Amino acid sequence: MNAPALCDIPVTIENGQREVFCGLTGIVWLHRKMQDAFFLVVGSRTCAHLLQSAAGVMIFSEPRFATAIMEEKDLAGLADANEELDRIVHRLLERRPDISTLFLVGSCPSEVIKLDLAKAAQRLGVAHQGRVRVLSYSGSGIETTFTEGEDTCLEAMVEAAPYTDAKQLMIVGTLADVVEDQFIRLFDQSGITEAAESVTFFPPRRAKDLPAIGPNTQFLLAQPFLNATRRALIGRKAQHIVAKFPLGVEGTSHWFRAAKDHYNAPDDAFDQALEAPKARATQALQHYKSQLNGKTVWFMPDSQLELPLARFLNEECGMSVLEIGVPYLDKQTMAPELSGASGQDNVVEGQDVDLQLERLRKARPDLTVCGLGLANPLEGEGLTTKWAIELVFSPIQGFEQAGDLAELFARPLNRKQRLAV
Ligand code: SF4
Repeated sequence: MNAPALCDIPVTIENGQREVFCGLTGIVWLHRKMQDAFFLVVGSRTCAHLLQSAAGVMIFSEPRFATAIMEEKDLAGLADANEELDRIVHRLLERRPDISTLFLVGSCPSEVIKLDLAKAAQRLGVAHQGRVRVLSYSGSGIETTFTEGEDTCLEAMVEAAPYTDAKQLMIVGTLADVVEDQFIRLFDQSGITEAAESVTFFPPRRAKDLPAIGPNTQFLLAQPFLNATRRALIGRKAQHIVAKFPLGVEGTSHWFRAAKDHYNAPDDAFDQALEAPKARATQALQHYKSQLNGKTVWFMPDSQLELPLARFLNEECGMSVLEIGVPYLDKQTMAPELSGASGQDNVVEGQDVDLQLERLRKARPDLTVCGLGLANPLEGEGLTTKWAIELVFSPIQGFEQAGDLAELFARPLNRKQRLAV
């Protein structure tokens, strides 16, 4: 069976009840990436619970995130709340000389919304000047979806970054170190690093090594949910090299080629550097393709990775995509992902969870990619699910991970098959 191709389709907009995590979740992967950063959530007990259950507690090492709980009594006087916050930060910094960057992370309880965390970060930055950089961003559940936590964090970092007019290619979006190392090798071997003069990664592994930004900075997005960061970079006069996202053989090739074309790097070095990794990825995919080909998949709006993942599953694994729910759609960032051949897919921006579930129950796809809150009830109804958040936590970008990415979708289908036998 030939799967219909992903397409340049009209987008339906829904506005109703949503079913997503909040932006605090981003701390889970951001604190692992930036080893010298500390994330202090200013929030409620609910925020503390969410963070502890999502990120776990490190027993053998000092934690690099915590929650300053704003109790009801803090509502009585904002001055008291600010003083309390200052006291907590002073204590923390005294005890933890390893922290180079402190993020004050806002949340959505009303007592927190009243606090001006940007001002608090400024005040604390002055008080601890030379010792630590203090930044603030919102991880609130009022934003559209959980990956916006990384977006607002990186946006704050862009605003704090120093100026440079040096030429550089900047890769924007948190990647696992192993993926970053592979990308560095490919940029070097393909001649892109030489043509671009330097390649930097944002966020850096150490927050204190914040790369400088300026008019000769060109950037590629490695994650599709960084629209505020993209706008902040453009505000710093950097230029966006628009490309598909580096998922699967096709997406990764397109992503590298966009950089190569931009810098006019030599064809032969580029083709030679990509040849072996592409062949390995294509071979790794073969195994899973036979398991995924002809199956139907449905995306509930969750991570913002839905469009590139749907493109990968459709074009490279032969799956039919029945509906692609996206929390929000930035057509500038997503243009290359949307510009495929015509087909019958439905892109739905936003969510009205009840209506969407009605359609899903009618369609009964072979696989539903959705949030944790929906996965268990849907499994209970006999549908097979994949947790969308797992795709954000796992290293899935690049050629070497293409097989692993396909496996993440094949696994629940295989499990279902084994259980049915
Ligand atoms: S930020 Fe809001 S949605 Fe997120 S855990 Fe805290 S209270 Fe809940």
